Amino acid sequence: MAVLITDTCISCGACIDECPVDAIVDDDDNPTGESIYYVYADKCVECEGHHAAPACAAACPTDGCIVWAEGNKKGKKPGSNAA
Ligand code: SF4
Ligand code: SF4
Repeated sequence: MAVLITDTCISCGACIDECPVDAIVDDDDNPTGESIYYVYADKCVECEGHHAAPACAAACPTDGCIVWAEGNKKGKKPGSNAA
C-alpha cells in the first residue's frame, strides 16, 4: 500500500511537506537516481488515519503524477472522491 510518483513530476516540492509520515524524498534523494520526487513504499500509508485521501496527491499540481492502487485512481484528486 503506497502511492507512486510518476515521471510527470516537475519537482515542485508541493507534496513533500504534506506527508504525515515523511515518506517522500526530493529528486536529490531519490534512490532510483531519477530527477523526480520519490515515495518510500515501506513508509507510505496512503494517509490512512491521517487524511481521507493521499495528501500528496491533493497538493500535487500535476494531473496524474501521483497514482495509487485503490481503484487505480490515476490523477484523481482527493475531494472529488466518490468512495
Ligand atoms: S499518500 Fe500520504 S503517506 Fe503516502 S506519500 Fe502521500 S502524503 Fe505520504
Ligand atoms: S507535488 Fe507533484 S509535481 Fe510537485 S514534487 Fe510532488 S509529485 Fe512532483
